[in-house]
Amino acid sequence: MDNIRTKNQQLKADEKKYIWYPFTQMREHEKEDTIVIEQGDGCILKDIDGNEYIDGISSLWTNVHGHRKKELDLAVKKQIDMIAHSTLLGLSNVPAITCAKKLINIAPKGLKRVFYSDSGSTAVEIALKIAFQYQQQSFKGDRNKTKFISMTNAYHGDTIGSVSVGGIDLFHSVYGPLLFDSIQVKSPYCYRCPFGKTIKDKTHPSCGFECIAHMEAVMKKHAHEVAALVIEPLVQGAAGLLVQPEGYLKKVRELCSRYNILMIADEVAVGFGKTGKMFACEHEEVSPDIMALAKGISGGYLPLAATLTTEEIYQGFLGRYEEFKTFFHGHTYTGNPLACAVAIANMEVFEQENIIENLAGKIKRLAKKLQPFLSLAHVGDLRQKGIMVGIEIVADKKTKEPFPPQKQTGRRIILQARKQGLIIRPLGDVIVLMPPLAVSINEIDRICEITYESIRAVTEYG
Ligand code: PLP
Repeated sequence: MDNIRTKNQQLKADEKKYIWYPFTQMREHEKEDTIVIEQGDGCILKDIDGNEYIDGISSLWTNVHGHRKKELDLAVKKQIDMIAHSTLLGLSNVPAITCAKKLINIAPKGLKRVFYSDSGSTAVEIALKIAFQYQQQSFKGDRNKTKFISMTNAYHGDTIGSVSVGGIDLFHSVYGPLLFDSIQVKSPYCYRCPFGKTIKDKTHPSCGFECIAHMEAVMKKHAHEVAALVIEPLVQGAAGLLVQPEGYLKKVRELCSRYNILMIADEVAVGFGKTGKMFACEHEEVSPDIMALAKGISGGYLPLAATLTTEEIYQGFLGRYEEFKTFFHGHTYTGNPLACAVAIANMEVFEQENIIENLAGKIKRLAKKLQPFLSLAHVGDLRQKGIMVGIEIVADKKTKEPFPPQKQTGRRIILQARKQGLIIRPLGDVIVLMPPLAVSINEIDRICEITYESIRAVTEYG
């Protein structure tokens, strides 16, 4: 026992000494006790001190079937007995081929080719480069089309290309001088509508879809110079789970086709069941020209990403070697066999366990359990799409005035939830809930109870 205590103390001293954490003000971190996770099982995480927590954000929106899912564990073990890594530059490997075929089988119908990488950021980066190069060199492309349309509140990752099409100033403004220009349209943040409108209910906007008229006006003006539009379909995740009004995505698809602009759907966060369908685009029967996938693609086990394209885009890269139409891009771990093996097992579990069909009941339960939140004094907006939830906390519900940032209200709420055994993460003052799809009804109830009490404790008595 003493041995374990000493070992844990050493670990905690070392984590403070050696690790620089992502998206973390390290001065604050240095003063805090860090939870060090050692094990997981289903939707439960266990730390080195033996404490258990519900994984309320699916290990950053990525875990699907729970931790230590037997079929996924086995897929990794079996593959490790064959080979852990071999390059996709000049060679192929068995899991990469099978995984690509499976992805195309489940993807929106127009998508036919798979380009692998290893994170959401690289999947988007690749999408941007493919769209740009396609316009430059394809017979059907247009060399004048060199720009991108992106959206306010967008998040597509942290590499320079994906930051260039991002729209969250807090994360992105400091890198301004390094970025390429993109043409930004106002995204539909209905709670704080940028056009000053309101919606009667979520399915029948009483507004006149000003966001779409705005999008069309921008496209009309810039179509001649725009290679592609980048969108997070249905939900802008990192901005605080901003759910787009019904019909928005379909309209955007129609406009892209009308104005000859490629549509890049970034399904990194929303893909693999999170919205209640395998892909968010399915809700509105949209097939994008390019789709970026990561996170849930490997069930949340290993870093894997894929950029899917239409056959037409792929054909735009064919030519004699000396024409240099090749897509000169690739990462060391592109198509990694271990990651692809677990991605195959992930997709098989979706089929074998009817995950999407069984999810409907959980989504309903979540919606029911969330209803009482709206009567809390400081819950301004409640947004849910599938298993994804954003609860926007405000100082004043009438004026929608936020709490001052130095109060760190969102952060204090999630720290309160931790004390009750729930791991969640805020986006500013939006509390995000996004458990693995494997979450049980009991766990949903517990997640909602703890979150409700934590919001009350911090905003009403804190
Ligand atoms: N795109 C979207 C919509 C995301 O939500 C994220 C991450 O949250 C990314 C891209 C970047 O993914 P990664 O963190 O794997 O680079």
